[in-house]
Amino acid sequence: MRKNIVAGNWKMNKNLQEGTQLVAEILNLLKTKTIKSKDELGIVFGTPFISLEACAKLLCGSEQIAVSAQNCYDKESGAYTGEISAAMIKSTGAKYIIIGHSERREYFNESSEMLAKKVDITLKHGLIPIFCCGEKLEVRNANKHFDLVKQQIVESLFHLPEAEFKKVVIAYEPVWAIGTGVTASSQQAQEMHAFIRGVLKEKYGQSVADSISILYGGSCNAANAAELFANPDVDGGLIGGASLKAEDFVKIIEAVK
Ligand code: PEP
Repeated sequence: MRKNIVAGNWKMNKNLQEGTQLVAEILNLLKTKTIKSKDELGIVFGTPFISLEACAKLLCGSEQIAVSAQNCYDKESGAYTGEISAAMIKSTGAKYIIIGHSERREYFNESSEMLAKKVDITLKHGLIPIFCCGEKLEVRNANKHFDLVKQQIVESLFHLPEAEFKKVVIAYEPVWAIGTGVTASSQQAQEMHAFIRGVLKEKYGQSVADSISILYGGSCNAANAAELFANPDVDGGLIGGASLKAEDFVKIIEAVK
């Protein structure tokens, strides 16, 4: 069901002790704030695999706050040394898996076909995929960004039957804005989010399109979150660097409309 989500993506940062300390700090800070209800706002910590279980335990079964893995393998189990399956992630108490982050696409050659399998296996294990899409700068400069984002969504998500598709969260993350300090303007974000919702409507109809949370990611921080989140089609954010500091992450949570 559509709601705002503020999801941190810690990437390859924070060891076990640092990670649990960060979550504890954020939970303590949140106790002093008034934030939206669990039906309006979800909060997610995208931790490294090693911290999932410990961080999930700190949440004490919260219905509003959950942990997410940042990746999974596309096979159930077996001789895949070093890989982590969706079933293993489920067993930690995690609720989400980030799938198709641009760093995975770029550095680990993850194709649309592989991402479709990862989405399937995530859903099969009752976890929610946060599916990332977004264009590189050269693609935007060639005015091909709408085509590319549509293609990413069609190739990795549109095989899903409606009932499964409705469980997916989408994150639009322009690659040129990730970790660069250059944020998409509020207008650029809204324009792409509205476009994505239109693509979903063509395939699954208006009510399904309206039920999907579409997060913005790319140098979103405590100073610009409120303006980005104020857009009608922006349902919160996927936050990299600013999710590593408790005060900044809490300010972003407070910025939800
Ligand atoms: C990300 O990696 O998903 C991200 C949005 O990073 P940053 O906020 O640091 O740009």
